Amino acid sequence: AATPEDQPGGVGLRLRGLQRSFGATTALDGLDLDITPGELVALLGPSGCGKTTALRIIAGFESADRGELLIGGEDVTAVPANRRDIGMVFQSYSLFPTMTAAENVAYGLRVRKAPKAERAARAGELLELVGLPGREKHYPHQLSGGQQQRVALARALAIRPRILLLDEPLSALDAKVRLQLREEIRRLQLELGITTVFVTHDQEEALSMADRVAVMRDGRLEQCAPPNELYERPATPFVAEFVGTMNRLPGVVRDSGTVEVLGRRLPVHGECPGSGREVDVLLRPEGLKVHTGAEAQGEPATVRVATFLGGVTRLLLSTDSGAEAKADLPSWEAETLTPGARCTLTPHDNPVLVEEVAR
Ligand code: ATP
Repeated sequence: AATPEDQPGGVGLRLRGLQRSFGATTALDGLDLDITPGELVALLGPSGCGKTTALRIIAGFESADRGELLIGGEDVTAVPANRRDIGMVFQSYSLFPTMTAAENVAYGLRVRKAPKAERAARAGELLELVGLPGREKHYPHQLSGGQQQRVALARALAIRPRILLLDEPLSALDAKVRLQLREEIRRLQLELGITTVFVTHDQEEALSMADRVAVMRDGRLEQCAPPNELYERPATPFVAEFVGTMNRLPGVVRDSGTVEVLGRRLPVHGECPGSGREVDVLLRPEGLKVHTGAEAQGEPATVRVATFLGGVTRLLLSTDSGAEAKADLPSWEAETLTPGARCTLTPHDNPVLVEEVAR
């Protein structure tokens, strides 16, 4: 099995002011990102925000118009792809179809002119590492999609890269295999201590696998933080709404730094417009309390839809003043909250993000 000594791993990666345009399209607009040795960072963001371009620049398949890239403190901006010691896994169909699993895994070693016996030994070892022992002689078409991605991962690791780049490696797989491979990639990455950048559309994938998630917007970094921080303390409304579900409820700024929403006053986190301004208040579905029974408090509302999600039930509610809200509560508390049921809503007492609106 691989050990940390088996893998050089542990080098930092530094992106400095990366700029890249394609004609009139700005793909990267000054991207800065520091990745520490052994870290797994997920690049997350809407389609077209520059994730793939950033990854291709790190790999050396694409050059930046401006900015620099450092691997392990060394400026590699001008170093060609094949000298960067990078392993890469793509979305799908990246194996050579006429090569066996072992030949695919050993490909990079053959290019580097490693002796045949060493190649075979390394291929066997890596196939075992990714959970495919004994599949050396199988061709890609004899393997499932998930197995093919394991081979692709083994191939990327075979050259003992300093950095591992993963470009939506799970998005072509079905849900169950995706979940399983998510865990395995993460386990392997931790075991090898290899610095990894992972591009994904899937926020759940990013949150569940990464040490930190870098949310990109229009070619720039919006926020880079550990998953729980990103979820609980998003820096901007964009991050808040891109990661997880968010309610937008009408509120009014009271004294500086507080906002009134659903009959309560809450502290504002982040930017706060002046007193008296109308704002949208951003609240998570689990950040709302639903009250039934006599103690009427907060704002009256009617249940529209109740969706059973297992331990949690999500309610879609309309408030009497015309706003819509989603609230999550433990399913055992939601039994009487069927469509048409009346209740009242209050927010939990947490700091909230607000955004000024014209109403
Ligand atoms: P997606 O999630 O859809 O893959 P992305 O965040 O990975 O998007 P990029 O693929 O990096 O985004 O693209 C960023 C922008 O640059 C897009 O507007 C895209 O159309 C444009 N772009 C990327 N590569 C090229 C290219 N080779 N030629 C022209 N435009 C390009």
